[in-house]
Amino acid sequence: MSKYQNFEKKLNKSYLDFLNIEIRKIYHNFIFPCHLGIIFFSNNHSNLFEKLNTVFNNVFERFFFGVMSYEIKNDYSFSINNLERIKVKGLYKDVFVYPSNYFYKIISDFKIKNNSNIGLGITDLPIYSSNRKNLIFLYGEAHLRQNCAIVSSYNLELNPHSQQKDKTNQRLIKEAIHEIGHIILGAGHCLNKLCVMSFSKNVDAIDQKSLNLCLNCQFELERLRAKLNF
Ligand SMILES: [Zn+2]
Ligand SMILES: [Zn+2]
Repeated sequence: MSKYQNFEKKLNKSYLDFLNIEIRKIYHNFIFPCHLGIIFFSNNHSNLFEKLNTVFNNVFERFFFGVMSYEIKNDYSFSINNLERIKVKGLYKDVFVYPSNYFYKIISDFKIKNNSNIGLGITDLPIYSSNRKNLIFLYGEAHLRQNCAIVSSYNLELNPHSQQKDKTNQRLIKEAIHEIGHIILGAGHCLNKLCVMSFSKNVDAIDQKSLNLCLNCQFELERLRAKLNF
């Protein structure tokens, strides 16, 4: 009896997950074309806006009516001390790493206030995944249900062979395209290592991939455009 009940619970859970995914697929697509807001959590990267605006309009052609830029003033740092940040022992000093949920909350509020449908945050703080706490020092993460993504430059600068600012910015832009790509195309990764939607386990893998989608991923975008008629 208890075994059967457990089985039923499991079945219901997986069935509900399946339904959620299916429902998400159906409703999610209707937001395109839409407005994208980029939220800069520090002014270190706000000079990247023009470049990001150009690549988003090229890579995701016609998916965005417009791309807006917002800068967060320092007031958010007051609450950051009370957060669920975790301390990681470093070689020279301990590092505080911040939960992605914290950024999603701020990005969501910005999205609502500024009528953006999708929000992308850019920070120089190290981040960990609130969903999977073993994932620390993330380059970026997307929250598909909230249409939010966060990208961190923190670990993009650590390769001693590539300290140049341009290189770091290039990596940041690739990861930003990658996370927005997840919001449009879903959680899966592309197996083509040159495609911006391929998974990068280190900065060398980021350097290896291009700023563009492969033909398969471009085809998926085209399929969405045709389906939604834009
Ligand atoms: Zn990914
Ligand atoms: Zn691809």
